[in-house]
Amino acid sequence: MDVFCRELPKVELHAHLNGSLSRSTMLQLRRLHADTGLVDRTNAFFDEFQIGAGDKRNLSDCFQVFGIAHSLTTTPEALKMATLLTLKEFQDDGCCYIELRSSPRNTPYMTQRQYVETLIKTMRENPNNLTILPQLILSINRSCPLSEGEETVNLAVEYYKNFPEILVGIDLSGNPTAGRFQDFVPALTRAKEAGLKITLHCGEICNPREISEMLKFKPDRIGHGVYIHPKFGGNEEIWNELRNSKIPVELCLTSNIRTKSIPDYNSHHFKEFYEAKVPITLGTDDKGVFATSLSQEYHICADTFQLQKRDLLDLAINASKYIFAEDAYEIINNKLQLFWNKNEKK
Ligand code: 5GP
Repeated sequence: MDVFCRELPKVELHAHLNGSLSRSTMLQLRRLHADTGLVDRTNAFFDEFQIGAGDKRNLSDCFQVFGIAHSLTTTPEALKMATLLTLKEFQDDGCCYIELRSSPRNTPYMTQRQYVETLIKTMRENPNNLTILPQLILSINRSCPLSEGEETVNLAVEYYKNFPEILVGIDLSGNPTAGRFQDFVPALTRAKEAGLKITLHCGEICNPREISEMLKFKPDRIGHGVYIHPKFGGNEEIWNELRNSKIPVELCLTSNIRTKSIPDYNSHHFKEFYEAKVPITLGTDDKGVFATSLSQEYHICADTFQLQKRDLLDLAINASKYIFAEDAYEIINNKLQLFWNKNEKK
């Protein structure tokens, strides 16, 4: 199953750039930042950065660790390096398509605009000739001032006009206990009207009212969806709302367990969503922080919920239907069919 999960051509639809940095990537970034005083602290940084099994930190504590990665991606050069190394790691893990998301930040060495430009240029130019197809989602961090989110949407709308082949969507993420969804609705509506796809982190904490507001907004996808099913702190009303909406949900098993949103894999809402035929896709969320990979998520899912190879293939095929760059669907599907035909002959 290990080899099958790795070789299966997978699509990653829920990965935050700065949460995806591996130890090796952080070490290379440290070298790049060698003169900024971080040199001696990065190893300790990485131990703090990774939230493994048994770690006592909860969801809110987890948001502090991103500052560690942020301290290493403050210049366009570092951001480019972080992007290329991370894309290569997803490629090596058998991903053929990725929608990488990131919140453009102003740093002492880079404006939000430069942040966006760097990501788009890196993905377009593909200097390392990667075969994975990268697409970009710009994230609004709900714990930052509204003006920053509005600027992210301004930039997204502007760059989408020239680079729709790279920039595909907007995400709302960041600490779910901070900020109000309703405050971001005007900016999100502008993005939607401009043609960008929308994905919202939804139901990471128990807040049925916000979940309902989010579903009524009709995003193209939502992330996590933990507190929706009645068994997980949701209620019948929002669960039915989700089921009727057919909105695909990006599920991140290991992330939910490491942040203590779910006690263990067996109790994950994957089961309820899968059985109710809610459209789902598996994602890593932050593969660096949670020490996982997409093939590992497929493997864990198969082991926990007794899925066969054919079920995993169907999961991957379905995920490819929910991608934002709809044109890429045929290419991915052909890869999956070829892979399956070859596998059946083995
Ligand atoms: P970045 O956007 O800087 O590339 O990636 C890290 C950021 O993604 C974090 O600062 C946070 O705003 C967001 N993020 C990463 N993981 C999660 C998650 O599990 N839930 C939410 N709501 N936001 C996340």
